[in-house]
Amino acid sequence: MTSPARPIPSLPGAPAKRLRILLAEDNTVNQRLAKRLLEKRGHEVSIAGDGRQAVEAAMLAPPFDLILMDVQMPNMDGLEATRAIRQMDDPQLRSVPIVAMTAFAMKVDRERCMAAGMNGHLAKPIDPAELSATVESYASQGVQVDETKA
Ligand code: MN
Repeated sequence: MTSPARPIPSLPGAPAKRLRILLAEDNTVNQRLAKRLLEKRGHEVSIAGDGRQAVEAAMLAPPFDLILMDVQMPNMDGLEATRAIRQMDDPQLRSVPIVAMTAFAMKVDRERCMAAGMNGHLAKPIDPAELSATVESYASQGVQVDETKA
């Protein structure tokens, strides 16, 4: 395995840190697009095709630096998957930054994401610059998990 702190100086405008990202998304076109964009930034991307797979992947060590979570997915949606991750026993696993990806970008939708324990929000269709900026800012900040919601 590569070190999560491995620098990638060869890429122009590259982030200082190679991130391990879990991409939970059921749409294969969006999967490929987001994966390609993030890999171009030097990040390592694992894919989960639904919320249940996302929860299973999020239980593995070492923890991901960030999870990109589609809201609408079969079997288990992104809100439910986020709530399950926020209830995990391991404090490091349950505090992973989770950023929602959804076409429903109205205030009420964002509030539902935050209430489920997500930390940020990206609107679809995916904007490449917004994707890398959001991912890299949340992953470097780290997040505070509200324990009252767990
Ligand atoms: Mn979807």
